[in-house]
Amino acid sequence: MADNKRDYYEVLGVQKGASDDEIKKAYRQTAKKYHPDLNPGDAEAEQKFKEANEAYEVLSDKEKRARYDQYGHAGVDPNFGAGGFGGEGFDFDLGDLFGSFFGGGFGGFGQRQSNPNAPRRGEDNQARVTVSFEEAAKGCRRDVEVQKIETCPECGGSGAQSGTTASTCPDCNGRGQVNVQQRTPFGVIQTSKTCSKCNGRGKFIEHPCQKCRGTGRIRHAVKVSVNIPAGIDDRQVFTVPGAGNAGINGGPSGDLKVAVYVRPHPFFERDGYNVWYDLKVSFTQAALGDTIQIPTLDGDVKFDLPAGTQPGKIFSMKSKGIQSVNGRGKGDQLVRIVVEIPKSLTEHEKQLLTELEKDLNVKRGAPVGSGKKSNLRDKFEKRK
Ligand SMILES: [Zn+2]
Ligand SMILES: [Zn+2]
Repeated sequence: MADNKRDYYEVLGVQKGASDDEIKKAYRQTAKKYHPDLNPGDAEAEQKFKEANEAYEVLSDKEKRARYDQYGHAGVDPNFGAGGFGGEGFDFDLGDLFGSFFGGGFGGFGQRQSNPNAPRRGEDNQARVTVSFEEAAKGCRRDVEVQKIETCPECGGSGAQSGTTASTCPDCNGRGQVNVQQRTPFGVIQTSKTCSKCNGRGKFIEHPCQKCRGTGRIRHAVKVSVNIPAGIDDRQVFTVPGAGNAGINGGPSGDLKVAVYVRPHPFFERDGYNVWYDLKVSFTQAALGDTIQIPTLDGDVKFDLPAGTQPGKIFSMKSKGIQSVNGRGKGDQLVRIVVEIPKSLTEHEKQLLTELEKDLNVKRGAPVGSGKKSNLRDKFEKRK
């Protein structure tokens, strides 16, 4: 099936070495061209829209893109795409996003010194999901597949084969550490090191559980259904408490950190909680005013374009933007007017415009400058 897939770079119409910005721009153009809202009932456009989404998801992700460049479609098995890009458990690098959440935390100094049999919290786990612009704005539910470490069901976490028990390690008396003499230039000093018999666990298991090889925990793929909060932005991380790895010695579970990637929208652009929308109008519409159906996140609404609207004018549609992620308030939709000047005209149209220009010129004979000045003078007078 993967054989007849089109090359992702070809789908977006970019060169193989294209920059992230070029890919984003090309995606927006392609998505706009084939967006189902703009091509209702066109199955071919819908297919191309899906194809562009798939290409963008791979090419906008540094790690997936590298795999694609190296192995082609096989490197980024698109069949994972349907349910929310699971199965990526541990093999992707989210270091830039998660910062200090991960790495370094476990097995550090503090823990090695503490009682190995004390309850410990499980590690945090990570996952990523890619959602559409609308899904991020309104929130949605997604199943994410994570490689999760859970308490071994076979031995209940003891690590010992059923019918046997773990005993306190005879070498370290359950401390997990043994004292050693170390010869240094300053004489012999006493330090401690991890007990090699029990690997620091403090317990000695004569008959380890077959399923977890004595560790008491097993790793397997699980599907976690997560609620993606409304208003979340591209590359934000949210936490699902308790959905991380199982704790050790009865400790609490870690958390699941979900990094959200948002596909850009073909015609909306996000700016905080506001949404920009460029409305193209003809110069006659701008001059005469019009009522125009325009899309918002809440569906199409009627927009009243006042007569005499100038190019670049920005109208604010209150509370038609994105729900704030903390639930307080909503942004606006900002409508920027782009006036299109016709590029080619028929002879008849030219004639009409020439007529119009003559007419406007007569009106322009009126004193524009002096009007402004008198206004200023009025203000100045009032101030005095
Ligand atoms: Zn086990
Ligand atoms: Zn030991």
